[in-house]
Amino acid sequence: MNVESNDAGYFGRYGGRFVDDKLKPVLQNLENAFKKYINDQDFIDELNEILNDFVGRPTPLLFAKNATNALGGGRLFLKMECLANTGAHKINNAIGQALLVKKMGKRRVIAETGAGQHGVATACACSRLGLECVIYMGKKDVIRQRPNVFWMEMFEAKVVPVDSGTKTLADAVDAALKDWINCCDDTHYLIGSALGPAPYPDMVREFQSIIGKEVKKQFQEKYDKLPDILMACVGGGSNAMGLFSDFLDNKNVRLIGVEAGGKSFNDGDHASRIVGNCGKEGIIQGYKSIFLQDSKGNLLPTHSISAGLDYAGISPQLASLFETGRIEFISATDSETLEAFKFFAKHEGMIVALESCHALAGAMKIIPTLDKNTNVIINVSGRGDKDLFITAYSLGKEKWFEFLKDEIKRGSSTNTLC
Ligand SMILES: *Cc1c(COP(=O)(O)O)cnc(C)c1O
Repeated sequence: MNVESNDAGYFGRYGGRFVDDKLKPVLQNLENAFKKYINDQDFIDELNEILNDFVGRPTPLLFAKNATNALGGGRLFLKMECLANTGAHKINNAIGQALLVKKMGKRRVIAETGAGQHGVATACACSRLGLECVIYMGKKDVIRQRPNVFWMEMFEAKVVPVDSGTKTLADAVDAALKDWINCCDDTHYLIGSALGPAPYPDMVREFQSIIGKEVKKQFQEKYDKLPDILMACVGGGSNAMGLFSDFLDNKNVRLIGVEAGGKSFNDGDHASRIVGNCGKEGIIQGYKSIFLQDSKGNLLPTHSISAGLDYAGISPQLASLFETGRIEFISATDSETLEAFKFFAKHEGMIVALESCHALAGAMKIIPTLDKNTNVIINVSGRGDKDLFITAYSLGKEKWFEFLKDEIKRGSSTNTLC
């Protein structure tokens, strides 16, 4: 199977490049540079050195013995992207693109962020590689995601609150695009998931494909065969494509994406584009894919307990792979996700990101139906420290509020918290 898009940037019917005329040559230059450097040995060596020494790769593949025993059925393995620097897989792509920016001789990076995870990874990569960094973020998100804004500022990124529209992610994307049109000579727009106009879906997938390459090697070295099932949560689709892409040709390996089922399948209650047939084909934000949208083609609001799956569009490659039947999709609700969070803390001693808990919730449904020789690998895309404000609230509201009130009192009555 051809993993890459065709010359026009399409995967089957999806993908393409639908942008302002001024950006077309910029994207073409980016595509040329990416294709050149991804095969350039110096670039590969430099990238691998950063991935090893700074990001902490390869991340381990853990046999989840306790969870396997508790669930009964298939054997469960966890790919530990949660152990990467900054706590999630996003850094793989941020570092890859940032290094490419340096090779292209640009000096400034912009990005949009919703929950702030991509902003933190981008700001971290820029700080490491000495690039100027500007992060566009809806004003509402700047207020809601104060901890991530704080980390971005520690990395010396400039966080620009976007005050237009709904003051959330979609408006931050528009603001970033406007900046790029005006400053494209010295600026790179660092997109965080396997979507957007070509060449982003190919580029982000390639920088994330190290996840699946490592998994293949790690599993084969130990068991001398391929796993049977791979699962990953799907927001935009970068950790899923990162895990899946090296296995697309291994037709006996089942690939399963898990979407955010939220509270219900009513509009605004979930972020499930494929499951439930909720999304429709459209061309939005530069690419053709499946989007949650109203009859006029406006993106619908989304909801998920995990901020990182809260997006109305999906990777055009994943949309195409679903259409051809290569990839299956299921969804996990908010409450199933919280159950998975508690289950893996209890049995495996892990605090897993709520995004990744969707994949774990999917595994908890499937594992008990499998025989004990079936090997399932879940991508644990991130760690859950960042979700403290959601999990602590959801699982123990009174105690958490008491703590927050005390902290405010303590902070205002003394000059030091220590
Ligand atoms: C952003 C994020 C996701 C969702 O993004 P994808 O592009 O679908 O991978 C998943 N897990 C974590 C930990 C994230 O931060």
